[in-house]
Order: sequence, then structure tokens, then C-alpha cells
Amino acid sequence: MSQYIFITGGVVSSLGKGITAASIGRLLIARGLSLRMLKMDPYLNVDPGTMSPYQHGEVYVTDDGAETDLDLGHYERFTGQPTSKHSSISSGRIYWNVLQKERRGDYLGNTIQMIPHITDEIKSHIRALSAPDVDVVVVEIGGTVGDIEGLTFLEAIRQIGLEDGRENVMYIHMTYLPYIRAAGELKTKPSQQSVAKLREIGIIPDALICRSERPIGEDMRKKLSLFCTVPLHAVIEEQDVARTIYEVPLVLSRQGLDEIVLRHFHAAHPPAVLNAWEEMVSSLARPEGTVRIGIVGKYSELPDAYKSLHEALRHGGAAHRHAVELVPLSAEELEDHGTLDALSTVDGLLVPGGFGKRGTEGKITAIRYARENQLPFFGICLGLQCAVIEFARHVAGMADANSTEIEPDTPFPVVALMAEQEQVVNLGGSMRLGAWPCTLKANTQAFQAYGRTEISERHRHRYEVNNRYRPMLEEKGLLLSGLSPDGQLVEMVELADHPWFVAVQFHPEFKSQALAPHPLFRDFIGAAIARRSGPHSLRMG
Ligand code: GLN
Repeated sequence: MSQYIFITGGVVSSLGKGITAASIGRLLIARGLSLRMLKMDPYLNVDPGTMSPYQHGEVYVTDDGAETDLDLGHYERFTGQPTSKHSSISSGRIYWNVLQKERRGDYLGNTIQMIPHITDEIKSHIRALSAPDVDVVVVEIGGTVGDIEGLTFLEAIRQIGLEDGRENVMYIHMTYLPYIRAAGELKTKPSQQSVAKLREIGIIPDALICRSERPIGEDMRKKLSLFCTVPLHAVIEEQDVARTIYEVPLVLSRQGLDEIVLRHFHAAHPPAVLNAWEEMVSSLARPEGTVRIGIVGKYSELPDAYKSLHEALRHGGAAHRHAVELVPLSAEELEDHGTLDALSTVDGLLVPGGFGKRGTEGKITAIRYARENQLPFFGICLGLQCAVIEFARHVAGMADANSTEIEPDTPFPVVALMAEQEQVVNLGGSMRLGAWPCTLKANTQAFQAYGRTEISERHRHRYEVNNRYRPMLEEKGLLLSGLSPDGQLVEMVELADHPWFVAVQFHPEFKSQALAPHPLFRDFIGAAIARRSGPHSLRMG
């Protein structure tokens, strides 16, 4: 039914395959095609939900509550289409499914093998995305050609080419051209070898996307075409984009990649409509001003750990034609030295989600500063919990208030484990996950941002504001501006006597898109811009 594009990577990892896959998705949508996207990851974890951000970057959460690879975030931000638990699969999940079927006796006594059992399981996941109303399924294979773990995926996609006919299956290989300074040239050999490796498996790419830091030049393209058996016009250059990753679809479109895909599929569609996209790129690339946002996180040295957050901040900036400078503030340094100097140089403070005790006192210190100094503040998940702890301690007179995640014996457990979490034994996939409805109060910053009372946002947490302390907190002025529809869970808090102090139990960053900035990020950046140009900026010098 649907046609398939398979995107593989060669030479090195971190080529930006996810962004390229997402960009191809955006281009095909711009040509009027309907599509679904899928990420296949060769690692053995069942899903990335329990993996350390140090190793895997952010865990992205879908509406239906899957904990997935961060590339799904790129897919949503670039294509504007929601992903789901069907949009991501790992080897671990594939093996898990096959072994469960084996235990159930589904294979009727057969010997279970990589081919056909594992490859069939992979193919059935890919084919499950095919539908009459889906023109193209875009599948990105994680890892690098040559990895032992990835072999079964490559074998499976080779088989789909055979079964569906090559005119219905397109292979796009991404590669890297290193620049050797001593020789003064880009080198094609690693690309040749990685394509040779693909050919060994039986896949000949239809297009080559070459990442490089320098222009490739016609001679180099001819050489790549000849040695990699790819038509010259399908050797695409993807130089590092200087200003914003959202330029990548435009770079690919200028070289006709969408046309190459459509011709391969024998499909004709009107030219690409990219006006809104170009406008968004221009407001990111040529901003009228810059705001500085301090982010107090545990993984400040790891941009991938807060991928969606950083992008959502940039979208919020684009809504005001402003660039957002991300200023990482180490929670532990704030904790150790208590130095607040850095905070006086930012226009807004963001405390993102997180787990465990490390760094929380630094976050609480920073939030106190924001509250007392009218600095726009946005708290997300653990950020909300820290804001409630800070308010309880310093405004509501509950000294040593804490979350039971951080201090199990705290005298004032203002944040505590949700009742449904008490029975949980396994850590994988057991948090409160995915989209849940929330009702907003009128006349709040929350309502002002969304412009309606019923919203839905994605969650990933085990702890919540302890209802026992709600009256004490409200009495002292903490505004519970968003609650679950049954009123039992605090989803948003804010302060009335502050320019913009909003904290949320959910993760709005997962739903912000390049063409549709999330309203909370838009308003947070708006408040930061107002502060930068207001009296505070003068006072602070
Ligand atoms: N650790 C907190 C909880 O589980 C916050 C989680 C988060 O920030 N994602 O509730």
C-alpha cells in the first residue's frame, strides 16, 4: 500500500540522521504527501525509558505514553504530526516479542532464528505503519552500517525492497566526508567503504546525503556517484547549517531531493509549499534581539539531555523574532557556593525536569531568587516540585519542606509519591506517562497563554503535589492554576504578584513545534523580553 523510504547512516554516528529524516518528512508534506515516520534502534534496551541521559540524551514521550528516542521529537517538530508508540522500536523490543511468542508456542516447535523470525518481526513493525491514506512511510535505522547490532534491520529492509519492488522502496544513505587539513581536501574513501558494506548486504542506495564541513564540489560529487553507484543528481550535499537546524529542509529542497523521491516513486505532485517554513527560518536566522535564559539543570554540559526543551525555547523566541541564548547554570555549583551572580545576568530562569536529589537545593535557591526578584520563571515537572518546596519553606513557613523523593523523612512532604505509584516494582514504563487532560482557572497566566480552559499535555513523573498541603499553600498565595479534571492532581501553579512565574507538572516542551510554538514557551520568552527592556535591566546594568 504505502511506499517506503529507508534512511541508513555510514562512517560515523552523530551525523544528524534524525534531523535529516525529519527534514525529508517536512519536504514530502510540503509536496502534499501524507506520511508516517518510524525510528528503529538496534540497542537491546526494550525502550530508552530507563537509559541514562548521559548515554542516550532525552527520553521523548508521545501522547500515548511511550518513552522513546529523541529523534521522534525532531519528527514532530519538523512535520507537525504526532508520533505514537508505533513510531519507535528497538532490537530489545523485537527480541522480547519474538521470545514471548516462542514461550507461548506460537512457532509450533520451529527453531527460532535471526532470519526469518527476527527479520519478520522487524518487517511486521514497519508494515504496520502502511495504510491506504499513508503515501510514504519514512524509516530511520539508528546506528551505523557495519554495526553487528544493526544487521537484522538492514536484512529486513533489503527484503522489503525485494517483496514490494524497488520502485516502491527508496534507500537513502547518509555519510560523512572528513576534511584532511594536511592534504587540503575532503575524503570520499570512508563513504565508498560504507556503501560497499551496504552492497554486501544487498542494498544499493538510491540517494546519498553527504555531511561535510565544506562544499563538496563537482569533481567530488562525480567521484562519489561513480564509486557509490548513485546517480550524480542524487548525490546531495548537506553542509553544516550555520544558523538553525530548521534550514535543513530548505538545503535539501534546493538540491531537488523531494523531486528525486517523487520520481523514484513515479508520483507527480505540485511544487513544494514552504512559505511558512521559510518565514520561520528567517525569524530564527535574522532575529531582532536576543534574550538570555538561565537553565538550572543537572546535565548542563549535555545538550542532548534537554533537546526538546532547547528547541521549544527557540520556537518561543521565534514567535517574538528573538534569538534565545541558553545559559547553562550548574545546579550543583549553585548548591555549593550559593553564588547568584549568574542569575542577575539572565532575563528568565527555567528549571527543567529531573530525577533524584542531586542538584535540587541549587534549583530551589535559584527559584527563590526568581520569585523574590521578579525574574520570569518557568518550572517543568521537577521544576514545579522545587517551586512548591521553595514556596512552602520560605513563604508558607514550613521549614525543611521537601519532596519524599529527595528527603523521605521531611517534616513537610509537600511533594509525595502518587498513590498509584506505591505498588510499582519495575522501573521501566511505569511512571505516569503520556497525555492527560487538565482544566485551567480563568484569570491566570495559564489561561492567558492557552486561551481556553481545557488542555492536554504529556507527563512523565511519579511524584505530585501532596493534596494535604494544598490549603496552606493556597492561603499564602500559591495559585493552583491547572488541575486534573477530577481536581485531584495539581498540574500547574503560579504566582499572582509576579510578572511571570508559572510551573507545570507536565512537559510542554514535547508539544512545541517549529511552525507552532508552545503558548507557555511563547509567553515565558515574551516576559523575559519585557524584563530585558524594562526597568530591571537598567537596575542590573
Ligand atoms: N522526579 C520527579 C517525579 O518523578 C520529576 C520527574 C520529571 O521531572 N520528569 O515526579
